[in-house]
Amino acid sequence: MSQVIVCGAGIVGMAMSLALSQKGIKTRLLAPRYVAQANLGEAYHPRIYAISLASQQLLSELGVWSLLPEARLTPVEQMQIQGDQAGQLNLSAKTGELQELAWIVESGEIEAALQKALMIYRVEWLDDKVIDLSINPTTNPIVHTEQGQSYTADLVIAADGANSIIRQKAGIWHQSKSYESKGLVAQFTTERPHGNTAYQWFTDEGVLAFLPLPDTSDGHQISMVWSASNAVAKELESLSQEELVSVLQKRIGHLSQDMLGQLTLRSPMYGFPLTLEKSGMVAQGVALVGDAAHRVHPLAGQGLNLGLGDVQTLCQVLSEKPHYRELGDIRVLQTYQRERSVPIAHMRWVTDGLHGLFSSQLEPIKAVRNIGMDIVAKLPFIKEFLIKKASGL
Ligand SMILES: Cc1cc2nc3c(=O)[nH]c(=O)nc-3n(C[C@H](O)[C@H](O)[C@H](O)COP(=O)(O)OP(=O)(O)OC[C@H]3O[C@@H](n4cnc5c(N)ncnc54)[C@H](O)[C@@H]3O)c2cc1C
Repeated sequence: MSQVIVCGAGIVGMAMSLALSQKGIKTRLLAPRYVAQANLGEAYHPRIYAISLASQQLLSELGVWSLLPEARLTPVEQMQIQGDQAGQLNLSAKTGELQELAWIVESGEIEAALQKALMIYRVEWLDDKVIDLSINPTTNPIVHTEQGQSYTADLVIAADGANSIIRQKAGIWHQSKSYESKGLVAQFTTERPHGNTAYQWFTDEGVLAFLPLPDTSDGHQISMVWSASNAVAKELESLSQEELVSVLQKRIGHLSQDMLGQLTLRSPMYGFPLTLEKSGMVAQGVALVGDAAHRVHPLAGQGLNLGLGDVQTLCQVLSEKPHYRELGDIRVLQTYQRERSVPIAHMRWVTDGLHGLFSSQLEPIKAVRNIGMDIVAKLPFIKEFLIKKASGL
């Protein structure tokens, strides 16, 4: 019997299994097996992440960062944030005496590197899907699978994403608020180089971000993340790819104030519903990590980074627990919950607060948010604070 079963093989679940195995805690990963989409040549994986320096450090400690191909990593050396009434804020790694503020990496590359590391560390992967969980205060939890198997362990860790079945079956409280918008992602070739800068525009039509990618033979590349209202998303999603090319290029060119010149759509567009979610995170014998535990608005690009923060804290709490307590002991798990509560709440307040401030159509609020940006732009100590927050260090 393993001591821990991690359910879900997204980046968070794989990192969790690897971290615990490296600490000598016998861990099995339970999730449908898949081959990560890496090495896509001149194409890019549709999910692109801004990885904070804190997450980079964790992936380095796990031996995963060095498995990522350098040619597919882009350092973010600057962030340029624009309000909707000429307010502007520039953050530079140099101001914080850093080499970069974050890294832009394709999801498929991180997944492939994690899969390699799991093989190197011989972490057992059970290729199956969780359909139920039995919990009882006096015995270990039992996970039931689609293929009719039952597995037990001292602790079940749910890394099975936003619709976590483990969370539901364990009866852990959960709240969800819809932003009534979708995160639209697509890749563009740009006329002008991005200069390793991540751009963000807070506009009347939602928050738009450009994440820098390595150039291809077509030219300079960026990944767009646009949180657009459900109505706008629906309208765009109903277009043919041909129609989308002209509509999206024009609309995004306008919202980005033509900052990078002519934009050429280079990929299909994908949409992800946006929600704010929180949960109780633990029950006897069960802990939640990643999107199973919480979700935030992607405007700060921090959802995965929060999940990797869960991995680091839970691994530390479990490996340093008193020897007389079991891994699934609720008192041990509550230490994890307490330690994560502040960083998760901070990120929720920042992302939800910014979303609220910039989605307001009231003129006084519009003015205040832009004046606020200009004031911050002139105060070096606040800029240094923001740089620290962006890097996660
Ligand atoms: C538009 C957008 C942009 C974003 N950009 C960023 C960014 O730049 N930086 C950042 O840090 N975050 C970003 N995020 C957030 C990030 O995508 C998520 O926080 C992250 O993917 C969560 O990872 P996870 O492993 O917890 O969950 P998931 O990636 O959802 O993985 C869950 C896994 O569990 C498996 N699973 C599901 N059900 C079962 C079951 N019953 N049994 C077994 N396995 C199961 C699934 O197959 C899947 O592999 C963004 C989000 C959006 C919507």
